[in-house]
Amino acid sequence: MNAMMSSLNRSRVFCCFTMLLAAVTAGTLWAGPSPTWCGTKLNSLAVKDDGGNLVVLGMEGSYNNGGNTKEKVFDGDVNTFFDPPSGGTAAVPCWAGLEFTEPVVVTRIRYYGRPTTLWNRMFGCFFQGANQADFSDAVTLHVGATTDGWTWDDKAKKGTWADFYVANPESLHGYKYLRLLGADGAYCGNPSEIEFYGVTAAALSAAFDGQTPTCSAANIVTSFFINNHLTLGLAYTAAAPFYELQRKPAASDDSAYEHVAYIPFCWDNYTADTIHGYLCFDEKPVYDSTTYRLRAYGTAAQSPWYEVGTFKSYAMKGV
Ligand code: CA
Repeated sequence: MNAMMSSLNRSRVFCCFTMLLAAVTAGTLWAGPSPTWCGTKLNSLAVKDDGGNLVVLGMEGSYNNGGNTKEKVFDGDVNTFFDPPSGGTAAVPCWAGLEFTEPVVVTRIRYYGRPTTLWNRMFGCFFQGANQADFSDAVTLHVGATTDGWTWDDKAKKGTWADFYVANPESLHGYKYLRLLGADGAYCGNPSEIEFYGVTAAALSAAFDGQTPTCSAANIVTSFFINNHLTLGLAYTAAAPFYELQRKPAASDDSAYEHVAYIPFCWDNYTADTIHGYLCFDEKPVYDSTTYRLRAYGTAAQSPWYEVGTFKSYAMKGV
């Protein structure tokens, strides 16, 4: 979600925040359901054939009958990729996906592009969940440039994994089907591998239904600036799958608030279940007049907004 943030800055921030969280999470801030709901690899819950092989859904065939079929997306080999027979159109879309044995909630998606060339065909492609086999009720879980700030251009690189956390209201629903849908003419992005992570919808419900999400000053661990952009260090203190941050000019009324980011609390990239916090980076510059508010997002209800306040960036003072 940090599209403007350089990888150098990102690593520095994570380093600092990891140290910070080492102190924070040593205490008892965590008082909600176990964050293990954030996920295990879901591919193993997908429907298999009688031979125990994953049943891969999507466009049949391969480009020039070269053998690079949709099954290559889920074969565990980053050197094999899906190259469909045509580029795909709105009428005849290119896609590859899985059916699951029960509805699943996606919290994280990993993607490995075509390994040697044309890896940027992934740009403009997006992930969907559905409960109808024909995806007639499909919901977009992630798209190239969304309100959460993710872009494939930032994340999808040649010869590497792209790793995304999924946190938005749509992601809280369970889906029987998940797929990657290619942009028109993109040959489904030529993916080498896709890994879905999350939990069953039943597990999400057991962890969070009936919980009352709250949001307060206790969620704010720290705030600092990176090149005039606000970075909030947040701690997980409420029974909520994720939080939402908004911003506005302080002098405006609440109708001026705009979405900044959904903030997932399944950020266990380094040490699973020990980091109950997250860094939220605002892509827009902070001005003296910028104010923020935060709320916890539950499965059935949200907490009241907590006014985080106004932060003054020394470099932008007076702007
Ligand atoms: Ca593969």
